[in-house]
Amino acid sequence: MLNFNHIIYFILILTSLTCTSQVHKTDAINPSEKMTEQDWKNKLTPEQYRILREKGTEYPNTGEYNLHFEKGNYHCSGCDAILFKSTQKFESDCGWPSFDDAVKDAIEYKLDKSHFMIRTEILCKNCGGHLGHLFNDGPTATGERFCVNSVSLKFKKE
Ligand SMILES: [Zn+2]
Repeated sequence: MLNFNHIIYFILILTSLTCTSQVHKTDAINPSEKMTEQDWKNKLTPEQYRILREKGTEYPNTGEYNLHFEKGNYHCSGCDAILFKSTQKFESDCGWPSFDDAVKDAIEYKLDKSHFMIRTEILCKNCGGHLGHLFNDGPTATGERFCVNSVSLKFKKE
């Protein structure tokens, strides 16, 4: 019984450490942003929170904007900053909305070594929200493919 309590205690400490480091990471990305993780939880839907703040991924071919090709702008669903334009979107068949370029200075790039891969994570520069990943196998002139979760985006018609 004592051992079991120790394990629970250990898990609680680990959880609190993880939470603390996440807050610091967010602060580092955008020092001017004063939103706490609790503020984000209140503001976002559970699915938005899972993807934007916990770096989750939506299931392929399920996102609202995967096969969406209207004219307009794609904003960050966390803070409303403009991230992509419809002219930058292309059909990639990868299961997520894909763009060959982004709005200037809207994106933060970060090396991501999780899941035994080396990838470039893309985040909203304004609020630090996780968007997806950047790959260099794009079919257009830029050679880039911004692979983005629909949940991280909010489309606004032009
Ligand atoms: Zn944002």
